[in-house]
Amino acid sequence: MTDNTTGSCLCGSVTFEVSGALESFFLCHCSRCRKDTGSAFAANLFSTTAELRWLSGEDLIKTYRLPATRHQKSFCSACGSAVPSIQMEGTLLVVPAGSMDSAIAVRPDAHICFDSRAAWEDQLEQAPRIAGLPG
Ligand SMILES: [Zn+2]
Ligand SMILES: [Zn+2]
Repeated sequence: MTDNTTGSCLCGSVTFEVSGALESFFLCHCSRCRKDTGSAFAANLFSTTAELRWLSGEDLIKTYRLPATRHQKSFCSACGSAVPSIQMEGTLLVVPAGSMDSAIAVRPDAHICFDSRAAWEDQLEQAPRIAGLPG
């Protein structure tokens, strides 16, 4: 399956297009991903074949790599939003799912590093679902 999708950062400076198949979609609950996103898990799409094309803002992108690990994050230096990056010596495209503006054709494959999840994630499905902001 081939997708042609676009995405952007929160401030709108960085925009990009991904063409090709997104092969996997993982929700990673490890402590590094929790720190990196400030959230319960990182939702990332992965591809070894899709192509990434920057449409704007490439000069604003900064990349942080945690020393002595493969954990890497690229972000817009104006707004801090996660943006795609090429990892594993140029062989793996990683796209933060939340950065996409187009609909994503694939569903998450798995929760990974689930044993590392934050304690407050347990019984999350029991939290009330409010359609908008709390009143
Ligand atoms: Zn931005
Ligand atoms: Zn992780």
